[in-house]
Amino acid sequence: MSYCLNPTCPHPENLAHSQRCESCGSQLLLRDRYRVVEPLGQGGFGATFLANDQSLPGEPCCVIKQLRPSGTAPHILQMARELFEREAKTLGKIGNHPQIPRLLDYFEEQEQFYLVQEYISGATLQQEVKQNGVYSEVGVKQFLSEIMPLLQYIHELKVIHRDIKPANLIRRAQDARMVLIDFGAVKNQVSQGAAGQSGHTALTAYAIGTPGFAPPEQMAMRPVYASDIYAVGVTCIYLLTGKTPKDLEYNPTTGEMMWEQMVHVSQHLTNVLRKMLEVSVRSRYQSAADVLRALDIEPYLESLSKGLLVKSDNTVKEQPINRREDSAVLYHHPTHISSPNTSASVAQVAAAIRARRAKAAEAAALQAEATQQGSAIGKSTTLSNSNGSQTQHSKVERKLDTQGLLTAYMKGRRDFAQHNLNLLNLPGTDLSGTNFHSAQLQKTNFQGANLHNSDFGKASLTKANLRDANLSKAYFNHADLEGADLRGADLSYAYLSNANLRGANLCGANLTGAKVGDEQLALAKTNWMTVRPNGKRGLL
Ligand SMILES: [Zn+2]
Repeated sequence: MSYCLNPTCPHPENLAHSQRCESCGSQLLLRDRYRVVEPLGQGGFGATFLANDQSLPGEPCCVIKQLRPSGTAPHILQMARELFEREAKTLGKIGNHPQIPRLLDYFEEQEQFYLVQEYISGATLQQEVKQNGVYSEVGVKQFLSEIMPLLQYIHELKVIHRDIKPANLIRRAQDARMVLIDFGAVKNQVSQGAAGQSGHTALTAYAIGTPGFAPPEQMAMRPVYASDIYAVGVTCIYLLTGKTPKDLEYNPTTGEMMWEQMVHVSQHLTNVLRKMLEVSVRSRYQSAADVLRALDIEPYLESLSKGLLVKSDNTVKEQPINRREDSAVLYHHPTHISSPNTSASVAQVAAAIRARRAKAAEAAALQAEATQQGSAIGKSTTLSNSNGSQTQHSKVERKLDTQGLLTAYMKGRRDFAQHNLNLLNLPGTDLSGTNFHSAQLQKTNFQGANLHNSDFGKASLTKANLRDANLSKAYFNHADLEGADLRGADLSYAYLSNANLRGANLCGANLTGAKVGDEQLALAKTNWMTVRPNGKRGLL
């Protein structure tokens, strides 16, 4: 179909390759390049359409927004134009981010205003919940780890989105990333300041967001950055319950949304959501970084920022290990380079969280060591070696600390079988091709480490941190990975037969060609980003 953009056209549907509209005679090819194929929606100010850009090879899809104010009075028209221009300016400023649609074109044609945007293919969170049901606590935390760094990015550029809701969040089919759309209600703090104190013009009255998702201060025309945090909080309640604000009850005295009886999540997440949903702005989290810190989750974007920083710095030749996901994003969106500022601040939050965790792990390790040494005094264990003869080994002898292990590896030692390496802190290290057979690696931190081709047969890796680790071709026969964090790990061609994956987190992990059974995977956590053994993405 070819759709006519004349707002007063009586029959806008035309044959696919027509040049002019059958009923009104308008040119169907906008600017000699965009062919509108179907209407997508109509809001207060504009209508959106799906179109093809026929000037480019492959005729890629794009979204065209046409300014179509509901009224024709001159002041309404003027307002609409200002708002439209503001959306274009905002998109031009912040659209250089992989989680925001790019602004491709902005022009006036035949007295109509147009805005052309990148088309994001995928389901909205609203569609996702309707199709697949509500989210778990882990799912909501992952959502927050994806959306909060994005919020931090736009807020740093002094933009308040003002209309965050499930229908404006799309999980892009191409790479499963969360994309925030519809910046039509956006509030630009800078231009607002320039407009003067009178602030509450009719202009703002038109763009107040969606009732229920927008917090009280925004409905009262005083949106602040924390208003977006409130809207994300309401979105989380939707993800957990499938209920929109109009399905929920409110405390008539305080105006608080009554949601706590309807969700079944940990006290920790409840507390965070409660603070995101505070009616009073003063009691709410003030920034996206505050929310991430409170949740103690590392921003999902951080890995991407790292990849970008490495790319933009020519002096760093070394590619980050195992950044397939990010490289894929980069190749699809070569122009999407987030500003170093944002990358740095997001990285700072992540670093602070990691530092705190490392400190806690260190304290726990010291305590464990003290207990163990106390109990090991005067004791020794008997182990049989391959010859079947009995050898005496003291427990203390087979225990290594982080530095001891790394020094030994540097000197060429590759055999740490049967060692007690519990709680060691080894993020980002290169320990590829190592023998950890039957080793104790409980809660050991291997985040981002290179463990390619290493042997973890019969090893105990319960609650180990293997996030983003390179575990390609690693051997896990009879290993215990219960509760291990394998998010984003590269497990391609890993041997996982007989491994215990109960409660292991495989969100975003790559299992291409891995030797693993469905019944094993059924016990683990997976998500849309997980690459299954057959090389396809999706829930397992
Ligand atoms: Zn027409």
